Amino acid sequence: MNRIAQSRRLVVKIGSALLVDEAGELRRPWLDALCEDIAACRARSQEAVVVTSGAIAIGRRHLGLADGELRLDEKQAAAATGQIRLAHAWQEALARHRLTVAQVLLTLDDSENRRRYLNARNTLETLLRLGAVPVINENDTVATQEIRFGDNDRLAARVAQMIAADALVLFSDIDGLYSADPRLEPAARFIPEVRELTQELEASAGDPGSGFGSGGMVTKLQAARIALAAGCRMAIAPGRDEHPLAAIEQGGRCTWFLPSQEPLTARKRWIAGAVQPQGTLTVDAGARRALAKGGSLLPAGVIAVEGEFQKGDAVLVRDPEGKAVARGLAAYSADEAKRIIGRKSGDFEALLGYRGRDELIHRDDLVLEP
Ligand code: GLU
Repeated sequence: MNRIAQSRRLVVKIGSALLVDEAGELRRPWLDALCEDIAACRARSQEAVVVTSGAIAIGRRHLGLADGELRLDEKQAAAATGQIRLAHAWQEALARHRLTVAQVLLTLDDSENRRRYLNARNTLETLLRLGAVPVINENDTVATQEIRFGDNDRLAARVAQMIAADALVLFSDIDGLYSADPRLEPAARFIPEVRELTQELEASAGDPGSGFGSGGMVTKLQAARIALAAGCRMAIAPGRDEHPLAAIEQGGRCTWFLPSQEPLTARKRWIAGAVQPQGTLTVDAGARRALAKGGSLLPAGVIAVEGEFQKGDAVLVRDPEGKAVARGLAAYSADEAKRIIGRKSGDFEALLGYRGRDELIHRDDLVLEP
C-alpha cells in the first residue's frame, strides 16, 4: 500500500525553516513545488490540510525585531504581521492549481475544550466538503503561554485527530527518527518504521532543551502519540528539497509511525489527544491491571493525586513506577479526589457531603496510552 497515495485525508505540516530563509524571505520556488504535490493529491480526490509555521519567522523582519530569541509579546506581534503574508503566499501558490485556501487559526483551547473542539471540527469538515484546502496555524497573536501549543507538531497531530485524517506528514529539516541524536553520535541508527512508542524511543529523543530544530524530536514523538491513538499513520520526513511530498510517495527516506490498535471512538480520540492534562493520578498495581483489562479507575486504587484539576478535566494516570499508562476525564476535582482515594464508594457520601459516582475515571472516559 502507498501510504501517501492511498490516504483519503492527508495533513501536511511545514516547519518554518523550510518555508522561510535566513533573511526572513519566503522560499517561493520551494512552496510552489510543494503546492504542485498537494494539487496532485487533490486531483486524485484526496482531501488535504496544511499546517504551516512561519508567521513569526516572516513577521519579525517587518517589525525590525533584532536576531535572537524573542519575548512572548514580540513573538505575538511578529506573528500578527507574518501571518498575513504567510496566508497570502499559500493562497497564491494554491490558486495556480485552482484550489481555494481557507485560513484557520487555532489555540490550545480550541482543542482541549470539548465545545470549541467540536466547533472547530465542524468548520474543518465543512471546508473539506466544499473542496477547500484549510491552511492552519496556531493563533500566536492571542495565544499566551498557558493556552499555547507553542509548536505546530502537536497542533498538526491534534488537527489530524480532530478530522480523523488517515495520514499526517511532519516536514522539517530532520529526516526521520534515529536511535540517538545523529549530530552527537555518529553510530546512531536510522529507524524507518515504528509500530509502538516505547520508553526507549522516547528517551532517544533527548530532552526538549537539546531537541534539534524549533519543535525538535520531543514534540514530534508527542505528535506521534496523538496520531497513533487516533489511528492515523504519521511520517517524520525531510522537507529541504523541492517536491518533498512526491519524494516520500515515491519511497523516499523518512520514518513512518504505524497505528496498531483499533481506532478509538471519536470521544476517546479526543481524550487520547489531550495535550495538556491538568493533573496526575498515581495508581497501585491492582488498579493498573484493572485498567489494562478495560476497567474503570476506582478511587480505591489511587495512591496519589497531583495538580489542580476540576471535574471533567483531562488527567494522566501513572503506575507506581511513574510510567504513564492512561489518560481520561476525572469525575471529581483534585480536592475531592484527594479525600476519596484509597476509600470504598460507600464512604464517599460521608467524605464529600454528597453521593457522586463510584469511579474516579469511568471506562468510557478513559484511554490507555499507546
Ligand atoms: N506558529 C509558529 C509560527 O507560525 C510556529 C510554531 C512552530 O515552529 O512549530 O511562526
